[in-house]
Amino acid sequence: MKRAILIHPDPRLKKVCAPVADISDELRALADDMLETMYDAPGIGLAAPQIGVLDRLIVLDCVKEEGAAARPLVMFNPRVVAASDETNVYEEGCLSIPEQYAEVTRPKVVDVEWIDRDGKLQSETFDGLWATCVQHEIDHLDGKLFIDYLKPLKRQMITRKMQKLKRERARV
Ligand SMILES: [Zn+2]
Repeated sequence: MKRAILIHPDPRLKKVCAPVADISDELRALADDMLETMYDAPGIGLAAPQIGVLDRLIVLDCVKEEGAAARPLVMFNPRVVAASDETNVYEEGCLSIPEQYAEVTRPKVVDVEWIDRDGKLQSETFDGLWATCVQHEIDHLDGKLFIDYLKPLKRQMITRKMQKLKRERARV
């Protein structure tokens, strides 16, 4: 089932999310809803707080090549356990901040550990777009948005645009 995506500013997007204890059928269904919502948007990553659920859960799929097989990843309690000194700059966007993009600098390579949908501990090294995406999504679990990396003036400008967008959407 597709879920509604919260738009910044929203207090739920600023919260630190709680770790997940057991991987229940309910949580697996939530992850499926998030993947459906992400693909439909379309986007390459989605974090639970973006649909108003304050659990440490993210989904992502950064396969972009035409005709390539999808690679949906579901991560419960994901954490970056190591990050490279080398950095990468990507123009980031966010489904909670529609049509706003800005360059963000992050570690180029990260090792991530998480619990998969079967409750098993997984770890993998991510590079390039995957590394940026997984860091962006994990930030959401700590109430952090990509615009928090920008200079205050730019961040305020984007926030004002989003407030205007929300007012317009509320009117229709
Ligand atoms: Zn985002």
